[in-house]
Amino acid sequence: MVVPYKSEPLTDFSIEENRQAYLNALKKVESELGGEYPLIIGGERITTEQKITSYNPSNKTQVVGNVSKATQELAEKAMQIADSTFNTWKKVDPIMRAEVLFKAAAITRRRKFELCAWLTKEAGKPWSQADGDIAEGIDFLEYYGRQMLELAKGKPLAENPGQINKYTYIPLGVGVVISPWNFPFAIMLGTTVAAVVTGNTVLLKPASTTPVIAYKFMEIMEEAGLPPGVINYVPGSGAEVGDYLVDHPRTRFISFTGSRDVGLRINQRASVLNEGQIWIKRVIAEMGGKDTIVVDDAQTADLELAAQSIVSSAFGFSGQKCSACSRAVIVGDEAYNKVVERVVELTNELVVGDPTNEETYMGPVNDAGAFEKITNYIEIGKSEGRLVAGGTADDSTGYFINPTVFADVDPMARIMQEEIFGPVLGLTKAKDFNEAIEIANNTVYGLTGAVISNKREHLEFARQEFHVGNLYFNRGCTAATVGYQPFGGFNMSGTDSKAGGPDYLTLHMQAKSVSETL
Ligand code: GLU
Repeated sequence: MVVPYKSEPLTDFSIEENRQAYLNALKKVESELGGEYPLIIGGERITTEQKITSYNPSNKTQVVGNVSKATQELAEKAMQIADSTFNTWKKVDPIMRAEVLFKAAAITRRRKFELCAWLTKEAGKPWSQADGDIAEGIDFLEYYGRQMLELAKGKPLAENPGQINKYTYIPLGVGVVISPWNFPFAIMLGTTVAAVVTGNTVLLKPASTTPVIAYKFMEIMEEAGLPPGVINYVPGSGAEVGDYLVDHPRTRFISFTGSRDVGLRINQRASVLNEGQIWIKRVIAEMGGKDTIVVDDAQTADLELAAQSIVSSAFGFSGQKCSACSRAVIVGDEAYNKVVERVVELTNELVVGDPTNEETYMGPVNDAGAFEKITNYIEIGKSEGRLVAGGTADDSTGYFINPTVFADVDPMARIMQEEIFGPVLGLTKAKDFNEAIEIANNTVYGLTGAVISNKREHLEFARQEFHVGNLYFNRGCTAATVGYQPFGGFNMSGTDSKAGGPDYLTLHMQAKSVSETL
């Protein structure tokens, strides 16, 4: 028996002991920067000539680590090992597979501060954001372990005398996991362990800007007792290694988290039948978002809650979440004027800077490419709306962009339609609640959304009409918790695979129905 699942509590950094633990971890990580990390294929460490260099986005020249870069030959070797390991791993008792996850959760909990410090250095995550990322990783381990224990029992079928009918889930085969840099621990881990606990083997290609934290995860899984070859660590370029593995005839499924364009490309490539392939590949994709907070009129909504929710959802981790609020629609002049004013005040209070400093709210954006893309959108925004906060950026030492707010933006403007993935927020006004929901639905995405209102009919209307995978009432639209708010969206946001939800594991499995005549 295991105790029921409960999410991991976040760290209270006002407690001196926790502050010190984080600062000590930071010192330890600083002394380990610039290390070399090999590939891990079938448990073997393989060092290659070519490297992926992971830099600190707050301090562009500081090397976090040099990671070996897989070639196609090594990707092929990893595939063969994953394929043969599948034959043994799929037969391992699901209870034992779940226990590996529980052990990994315990190790992660013990190493929490150190892992947070790596995230601060490698991904630019401020303390609380790093802590949230690690806690979510622990949640995935604890939750999917328990879900597997349930699934292993099979599902009941109708009874028929003279027959024994059984319905069980079996794994698929080798999965390619292509994970993102924005939750370089939680999502990398969650997508990988969901595949593994269900009996599949994995080729893990972590994001190229955050491969070191993925290596730390590999160490944790090894320490937890995962056999060699179940997860193979193959960082590499998308064009060389990613495409090769997606196209491979022995790839059974692909679990991808990242941009819409890459997700669509993977989906298209995966649909092509390659020489020797005997199945239809399955694609689990979690892609972008253009997420909206709708605020009801001044008589109906708590406008302070609205402003706080908008600002924290727009600017937490510099807006680099596919769940981030990048637009808000406010009903009526009075609410609109008040919310704009308060959003600007709150935005101007945010501290931007080095995320190793405790008081920093927003660190850097991911890399030079992200900096350029976001600052371009800020220029576009200047012609599409009224700049009321931020609008400035500085990449002299790290990729810092000030939280930026545009008011009076047309709902069809580019900054209201295209995913920016940075700290840029557009505000617009609606004449009534229905129009606000119409505006909220006017994108190709459908990931998250929130409604701030105290009117029951409006909440119920939104429940039906606001077409997003994750809808929140009277709170922000980020920070879904594993097991409580299963996460994933509609339309161009992906395959509506709900990470951290009760159906997620079966996406990595196929059901087998066996009937015996007595
Ligand atoms: N699950 C995260 C949240 O609810 C977002 C994940 C993502 O950005 O990919 O905020």
